[in-house]
Amino acid sequence: MVILSAAKPAIPRVVTFTPRCGISTFNNSKNSTGYQRVRSSSTSVLPEIKATQETRAPLPPLSALPTSVLLRSLLVATISSKPYLLLPSLSILSFLCKPRKGALLDVDRNPIIHGILKSTFYKQFCAGETHDEVKGTIKQLNDMGFQGTIMTYAKETVFDHKTNTQHGLGIAVGKDATGTTFCPHIEAWRKGTVETVELLGENDYLAVKLTGAGPTVTTAFSTGDLPPQQMLDALEEISTKCKDRGIRILVDAESQHFQSGILRVTLDLMRKYNRDGYASIYNTYQAYLKSTASTLDKHLTAASEEGFTLGLKLVRGAYIASDERSLIHDTKQDTDDAYNGIAQGALRQEIGTFGTPHGRSFPSVNLFLASHNKESVLAAHSLHQQRLKAKLPTVAVGFAQLHGMSDEVSFSLLQMKKGADGDPRVYKCSTWGGLGECLAYLLRRAIENRDAVGRTGEEYLALRAEARRRFFST
Ligand SMILES: Cc1cc2nc3c(=O)[nH]c(=O)nc-3n(C[C@H](O)[C@H](O)[C@H](O)COP(=O)(O)OP(=O)(O)OC[C@H]3O[C@@H](n4cnc5c(N)ncnc54)[C@H](O)[C@@H]3O)c2cc1C
Repeated sequence: MVILSAAKPAIPRVVTFTPRCGISTFNNSKNSTGYQRVRSSSTSVLPEIKATQETRAPLPPLSALPTSVLLRSLLVATISSKPYLLLPSLSILSFLCKPRKGALLDVDRNPIIHGILKSTFYKQFCAGETHDEVKGTIKQLNDMGFQGTIMTYAKETVFDHKTNTQHGLGIAVGKDATGTTFCPHIEAWRKGTVETVELLGENDYLAVKLTGAGPTVTTAFSTGDLPPQQMLDALEEISTKCKDRGIRILVDAESQHFQSGILRVTLDLMRKYNRDGYASIYNTYQAYLKSTASTLDKHLTAASEEGFTLGLKLVRGAYIASDERSLIHDTKQDTDDAYNGIAQGALRQEIGTFGTPHGRSFPSVNLFLASHNKESVLAAHSLHQQRLKAKLPTVAVGFAQLHGMSDEVSFSLLQMKKGADGDPRVYKCSTWGGLGECLAYLLRRAIENRDAVGRTGEEYLALRAEARRRFFST
């Protein structure tokens, strides 16, 4: 039983789960995983309490946040929503990200900087530096009602198109790249990723950033080649381990400079591991790219002709600050239209010429909508429910927001009424690793908050209202 902490006590919420969950497939999908999680509410609450509960106004979505998390979220949202606080914080984070040595400015060696960052930004957006911390975070997210956690290991390489340089934080880029048969960077990435898998349960997802494997891999990716055999072997090992344990893998989309190689590897993994009627492996499609429609068309064609399930994780895209601008849609509206078009098209089983009356038949697809945009997410959820109710064809769908961001969107989804296929499947996506390894990720979160001024302001107001409700209302 999960009793959510609040000064103004929330009604006890009893959450029961079937032992397995994941994304189920529906009606006319050829193959079905049968995975389904059932969440029932208040089954052990006394009838008189239940009656009172039913007549009360529903609690706001953020009532599900434990008080300690609420207070930290409010602190971070206050900083993020006030330019005079956010801009200096961004400059400091960006300065600390630059590769330099010297204990004074090294976040992992200076205990004061480490302590301040760890208790604020790091804890807000990351899962932990140690296994115990990560397990604690996963448990806390489960207790809040999430279907599971998406966990990623922080190491990655970011390519800055403007300066033509790559920054691999936590990786000594270029130093040990011998190109010989054994690469210590790939081995370090493999170990870190296998450790991540060990921390997960069968309702969880592993998210992987392939560039975290270092320079031999990124060099291959930047020319659209496959990475060294050692990396392909590591991917096989990780995919097999995950498949055996019912953990699904989301391969992250990264800087455009590396994407053609990442797409090639991921398509091959989907071909091999997505043959049982559901997606074990998902590729990430960045809706902000002008090329995404044709990439998706190629991948749908492959799935249709070769008979595997396409794992379609859809995002808008996080590298607008460093990627070549001309590759990205000209306006935010164009990106929004592309995102909503693909999401709703997949839910209707109609994308391009796939699924149209005289077009090609729509292949098996599992959809994962990763977004903080409430409008996109709620519209997709509502369309999915309408189609299920009307017994129209649709695809399995999950939703995800980043840990520490857009809790209002996550909890609004979680509060949605149970639909024909059970509750909406909502996940939080977190990152783990040493503070130094997570700095690039933290910087991207701060930049995203700066750029989404409207949303950040709304989040701040919602958190402040929830704090007032808990502490000051009578
Ligand atoms: C669980 C999860 C996993 C993610 N994984 C990845 C990943 O693997 N790879 C990745 O790249 N991103 C990923 N993202 C997405 C990214 O981190 C941001 O969350 C996302 O880009 C913000 O968009 P939004 O859908 O939340 O909506 P909004 O906040 O409404 O949209 C903001 C986005 O719109 C786009 N945009 C803004 N201004 C313009 C403009 N002028 N012209 C064109 N487009 C514009 C940008 O993509 C910007 O980030 C992930 C997000 C989540 C929640």
